[in-house]
Amino acid sequence: MAAPPDEVRRAHLVSALAALRGRIARACEQCGRDPQAVTLIAVTKTYPASDVVALASLGVADVGENRDQEASRKAADVAAAGVQVRWHLVGRLQTNKARSVASYAAAVHSVDRPELVEALARAAERAARSAPLDVFVQVSLDADPARGGALPALVPALADAVARSGALRLRGVMAVAPLDADPDRAFADLARTARQVREAHPGATAISAGMSGDLDAALRHGATHVRVGTALLGRRDPTFG
Ligand SMILES: *Cc1c(COP(=O)(O)O)cnc(C)c1O
Repeated sequence: MAAPPDEVRRAHLVSALAALRGRIARACEQCGRDPQAVTLIAVTKTYPASDVVALASLGVADVGENRDQEASRKAADVAAAGVQVRWHLVGRLQTNKARSVASYAAAVHSVDRPELVEALARAAERAARSAPLDVFVQVSLDADPARGGALPALVPALADAVARSGALRLRGVMAVAPLDADPDRAFADLARTARQVREAHPGATAISAGMSGDLDAALRHGATHVRVGTALLGRRDPTFG
């Protein structure tokens, strides 16, 4: 008898997660870091709430999405299933989505301009939250405005603005490595900006960096949060990004 589809899917997630955890452990070992200090964020965009529920049962507590519309619906479905995870918004965010995001997200990784800091601060103040909204300031490593992120020179002021809001908690910095560049160089640049932020805000120790293709390089340069989609869930339908 053939296994039902949900068991097949679960078996895929079990083996992909084991392989991924092994890869993170090896990368950490090679640079003398503790893998327990790395948070794995499963980026579930385009994949169903049932995958989030399955991953949660396997010990994945942090889930990433890049669009509010998809994330808010999925968060409601997962909550309705009685499952708790921490939702991380990792994609570009319009200010008019701040209220929605503050209602379900634990963290926003893509904060890259003062208007967004203000909108999130206001939304987080008004929302019935049990904890501040965690914020990562996104750093542009290639000065391509289409890919999001603030220029490194503008990051300290943004970090200050986040830290001034009692409803937000500055966690650190985030970046996506440029497409055609050496990821080691990009993540070294990010580490430099992270140090600068930490000098002014000692509690902002987090670095959100590394995806399926470059997480080993990110871990070499101090990433504390890796955001992994493809290596865990499979190739996405390219029409959905
Ligand atoms: C989709 C996405 C990821 C995950 O990318 P993979 O290459 O599938 O691991 C990470 N970060 C952001 C910002 C994303 O949009």
